[in-house]
Amino acid sequence: MPRPIRAEINLRALKHNLHRVAALAGDAQLWAVIKANAYGHGIENVLPALGSASGLALLDFDEAVRARESGWTRPILLLEGFFHPADLKLIERYQLTTAVHSEWQLNALETYRPAVPFPVYLKINTGMNRLGFPVEQALRICQLAQRSKAIGDITLMSHFSRADEKEGVSEPEAAIRHIADETGLPLCIANSAATLWHHETRNGWVRPGIILYGASPSGVFNDISNLGVQPVMSLKSEVIAVQPLRPGSSVGYGGRYIATGEERIGIVACGYADGYPRQAASGTPVSINGRLTQTRGTVSMDMIAIDLTAFPQAGIGTGVELWGEHLPVDTVAGHAGTIGYELLSAVTPRVPRIIVD
Ligand SMILES: *Cc1c(COP(=O)(O)O)cnc(C)c1O
Repeated sequence: MPRPIRAEINLRALKHNLHRVAALAGDAQLWAVIKANAYGHGIENVLPALGSASGLALLDFDEAVRARESGWTRPILLLEGFFHPADLKLIERYQLTTAVHSEWQLNALETYRPAVPFPVYLKINTGMNRLGFPVEQALRICQLAQRSKAIGDITLMSHFSRADEKEGVSEPEAAIRHIADETGLPLCIANSAATLWHHETRNGWVRPGIILYGASPSGVFNDISNLGVQPVMSLKSEVIAVQPLRPGSSVGYGGRYIATGEERIGIVACGYADGYPRQAASGTPVSINGRLTQTRGTVSMDMIAIDLTAFPQAGIGTGVELWGEHLPVDTVAGHAGTIGYELLSAVTPRVPRIIVD
């Protein structure tokens, strides 16, 4: 038998979430963001549930090729564009839509002279200050692109730094909308947070990621609990040993958890080498059949300890959910000082992904 850890990928939940988000997006078309191996879920695993998306967005060529080889024929958007002029061969061969965020990329397109002009997403920097042309240069860049024989359809793209805040998009949204009005170009600006919370950004195309997987763009599950989205990944394992603890005895590296009374500890086959965060403090919730208990002590590479004192029936072989259906990944992430995005995408390759539908 294999080690009992697994990440169950619930395709019914993913389809359901996609429908919920598409309904919110109204007339806008939807790029399903599947970067980082579909936020850890596995690109090949999730594709069968994404049939109603208009396109896929990601950033590694390797992932784009995998999506094509899995039979995806609709558009694929490269969110970071291309990294070297030589990449244009792949873009042409696999019919990818590329972001263009720097002038060297425009020059590279011009030099390449494709047989069929490339569709591009011109990325405008509206305040995130990572990628994109400055707002002040945007009209000149749009003109350059519109005149280029190497470039076909053009869409304006920008990414918000504070879309999870109430007033977080008003300035950048106004800036990019002005450019769209001046140039007549369509827009693609909404990530999950903007799609959920900023109605005015849902036009042209939206590009939600995390919400499709049932986790919160703000990192706080309560912010999405009324939406009816469902967690797609459930990280599960089993108790592989039971340790009675005497008052004063400890469990795990550093002896950092010390029992105050007689306690029953379960050892679960899941550790940081599986992607469970070592930063998760002693007391992080875990679920047994929907009932919560807590971790005890330091997360090891391959194991964690949990409190079974109130679970007399639990023993070797008892199933434990680390996050998922009964316990939002956002909640576990909060105990580790991070967000669900990081936990989902950090599940390591040694954890088998098992599809449930
Ligand atoms: C990751 C990413 C998204 C999706 O973001 P979520 O917060 O997961 O919805 C959208 N656009 C760009 C450019 C991204 O890098």
